[in-house]
Amino acid sequence: MIQLKNYINDEFLEPIQNEWLDNYNPSNGSVYGQLPNSSLEDVNLAYEAAKKAFESWSQTSLEKRSAILLKIARLIEDNLNRFAEAESKDNGKPITLAKSIDIPRAASNFRFFGHAITQFHSESHETKSEKTINYTLRHPLGVVGCISPWNLPLYLLTWKIAPALAAGNCVIAKPSEITPYTAFLLGEICNEAGLPKGVLNIVHGLGTTTGQAIVEHPNIKAISFTGGTETGKIIAKTAAPMFKKISLELGGKNPNIIFADCDYEKMLTTTVKSSFSNQGQICLCGSRIFVEASLFEQFKTDFIERVSQLTVGHPSNESTQVGALVSKAHIEKVLSFIDRVDSNGGKLLHGGKRVRIKGHEDGYYLTPTIIQVDSNSCHLNQEEIFGPVVTIMPFDSEYKVLEMANDVKYGLSATVWTNNLKRSLFFSEQLECGIIWVNTWMQRDLRTPFGGIKSSGVGREGGFEALRFFTETKNICINYE
Ligand code: NAD
Repeated sequence: MIQLKNYINDEFLEPIQNEWLDNYNPSNGSVYGQLPNSSLEDVNLAYEAAKKAFESWSQTSLEKRSAILLKIARLIEDNLNRFAEAESKDNGKPITLAKSIDIPRAASNFRFFGHAITQFHSESHETKSEKTINYTLRHPLGVVGCISPWNLPLYLLTWKIAPALAAGNCVIAKPSEITPYTAFLLGEICNEAGLPKGVLNIVHGLGTTTGQAIVEHPNIKAISFTGGTETGKIIAKTAAPMFKKISLELGGKNPNIIFADCDYEKMLTTTVKSSFSNQGQICLCGSRIFVEASLFEQFKTDFIERVSQLTVGHPSNESTQVGALVSKAHIEKVLSFIDRVDSNGGKLLHGGKRVRIKGHEDGYYLTPTIIQVDSNSCHLNQEEIFGPVVTIMPFDSEYKVLEMANDVKYGLSATVWTNNLKRSLFFSEQLECGIIWVNTWMQRDLRTPFGGIKSSGVGREGGFEALRFFTETKNICINYE
């Protein structure tokens, strides 16, 4: 049994009230470890450490802060296999994915913000006629909270921690209680990299107790949160009256719009990925596929064939393309959508069944699932399933598909497949979401703003947007007459 501990003030501590949660291995349904279910007392301890560290961290030179972040990045890379194995075991994702995407990206997050902070700048404005010069300062906020979900555990946690630290803040981070393992390992790396004590504190526990205690803490200045829309509402409700800064990255129900004039082979290969990577548990997956009517039958046949070739298997197996879903509760939730397909006017075209892997029969495996729907208003197209389930539907006019793509409460991302330049510009302008990919999916440049609109969130992460979020702006006006 692995016993994870809180990382507070450079030390690995047991929860003060000695309350623990079980940690499950989704590949076989067994409990393989325990993690703290931290209370307000643990959060307070972390806060005191962070507050104390802030005085010196916020005054530390950019070169030194940057060098420490770059060292953390290097150490994550040096420990790639260890991190990837932990992530795959905790989350059920294929080891190949953890090694090629999750962990390298966690290192990139630290490297990127280690460099970005040295280029971060503020503005100055001179008005000669009035003999004034305005200049703007950007100060770190103080102690901030970073709360992250289970689907890309270290990748998303570090996407918040790195800019917060780079900007001179001290952090209390809470990873998902479902996937805490790599966050625990990160503490060891931070010690080795020479991050001063108290600058980063990682507190484990349930959202409703530990997470809520962080959000409610009167002196934690900002909350950067990624997770479900309903949780986002609770966080906003708690934090808004306290006038905290909040950044919310929430759910999605992203359209993937395919026109007959697209590069077919590239579209097909990418659409298999955008549908089922990480078992469909990526907020950016294209879960509503709309295909131009003239291409629909061909697409349907080819897509089913490609998807049926995906290997569902144990995450540690190098040939596995689709691993286990993250938890028993989650696979049951996904199956409940599939069970209601017929009553919602859908037609199951492929998958929809639990897979029993020999020797790991209690693991949470599901065949990638394709459902044909005849209306965008059905719950399969309106609710976030967040699993290996996509719907497909034909369309016969640009205006109709645009209307359907936008007719959903979410607005995170969209993909458009077309070789018509005017059409790609029109759709890019008209689609109601924060991120649009044209003829590609999930190509990420960390300098770009990342986030959604409508029920997909508030604020943007990435590049200088993240550094702006983690700093407070002060304008100074000097008259030099
Ligand atoms: P979740 O909302 O259940 O939990 C996310 C985190 O919030 C966890 O650490 C949890 O412990 C914590 N939490 C829960 N209740 C809380 C509370 N009251 N106060 C403070 N913290 C609380 O989400 P999840 O199931 O872990 O993740 C899946 C969701 O995340 C999906 O909806 C997915 O779309 C979304 N997501 C969004 C993005 C994005 O960038 N927009 C990225 C990844 C995942």
